[in-house]
Amino acid sequence: MFVDVARIHVTGGAGGAGAVAIRREKGVPRGGPAGGRGGNGGGVILVADRRLDTLLDYSYREHYKAGRAGHGEGKKRDGASGEDLRRPGPGGPLGRAGESGEPSGLLRVAGPYRGGARGGRGGRGNASFASPTRQTPREWEPGEWGEERHIELELKLIADVGLVGEPNAGKSTLLARVTAAKPRIAEYPFSTLTPNLGVVGLSGHRSFVMADIPGIIEGAHEGRGLGTQFLRHIERTRTLALLVPVDDEDPQATYDLLREELRAHDAALAGISHCVLLTKADLNPAGARPPVSVDAPGSWGQFTISAVTGAGLDGALEGLWARVQREKEAAEGDAEADPFGSGEAWHP
Ligand code: GDP
Ligand code: MG
Repeated sequence: MFVDVARIHVTGGAGGAGAVAIRREKGVPRGGPAGGRGGNGGGVILVADRRLDTLLDYSYREHYKAGRAGHGEGKKRDGASGEDLRRPGPGGPLGRAGESGEPSGLLRVAGPYRGGARGGRGGRGNASFASPTRQTPREWEPGEWGEERHIELELKLIADVGLVGEPNAGKSTLLARVTAAKPRIAEYPFSTLTPNLGVVGLSGHRSFVMADIPGIIEGAHEGRGLGTQFLRHIERTRTLALLVPVDDEDPQATYDLLREELRAHDAALAGISHCVLLTKADLNPAGARPPVSVDAPGSWGQFTISAVTGAGLDGALEGLWARVQREKEAAEGDAEADPFGSGEAWHP
């Protein structure tokens, strides 16, 4: 299961109470106030880490509470500070955190940021209230409660290659064949309810991440079908593979429809490079019909594959890998424009 939104509840540790104490010493007739301060409560600190690419850990646990502080003590001893609770979260342009319902900022890379909750301040002990006119004050303060808030973490799907196709185009079957992911495969439309990620491994330790995007149907961008709510996940992919089954009644019309849906959803999506994967080649045995192809002048390649027999897969995966490298290199060139590379802390 791929988790892309996690809601957590964070609580800073309570501050310790200040102490009331009077110093008593042999030979000193009147002792002074000696109650120390309470310690400050620990904070919950979410640290953005660019290497993380999943919120899965946060789906297992909802509450995060930092350590409470120790109370002040006599002899002007201050209470111990509460322990901070540090948690890494996905950083970079893909991670996002904010108060529930209203994401207020993006997690930035490196450095602690206040995506968490501050600990409560410790209270003053009576030693802090002493003045020339008040030599034995009995006042003290309780510690403050730690800050408490609901935080929503959002992670856009990180995939190098996004598979786009109508329901039953063969996306899940392909992903299951070339990666270790085990997407749900069924005969009916919308068998894929959430995007699935898988890592495609190639020779020489080369790999890329492939995502199975749930089916787009005509009008998906208008809210019909399940496609649209997931389409935003593919906005960050390096390249797209548009799947068209060779046994489609009208492969050209299906390809055109997919292109149109991408454009209708988001101009940026339509701007992502794409190739065509003609799937289910085994249903179009060589010689039975002229090989199916589509007129796709905007694509960078066209491959005929069968996820069932494995035909054509090697060539397609090599082609995808090469394209992903090219896109990555092009993106590195734009790194200057990356506002998240600054390493600054993020504050809500
Ligand atoms: P998705 O909706 O795009 O994820 O499509 P699925 O992967 O669930 O596949 C839909 C149907 O097509 C399933 O019955 C698959 O078994 C079948 N299918 C997928 N790929 C191939 C293929 O290469 N050859 C054949 N013959 N059937 C396939
Ligand atoms: Mg599927």
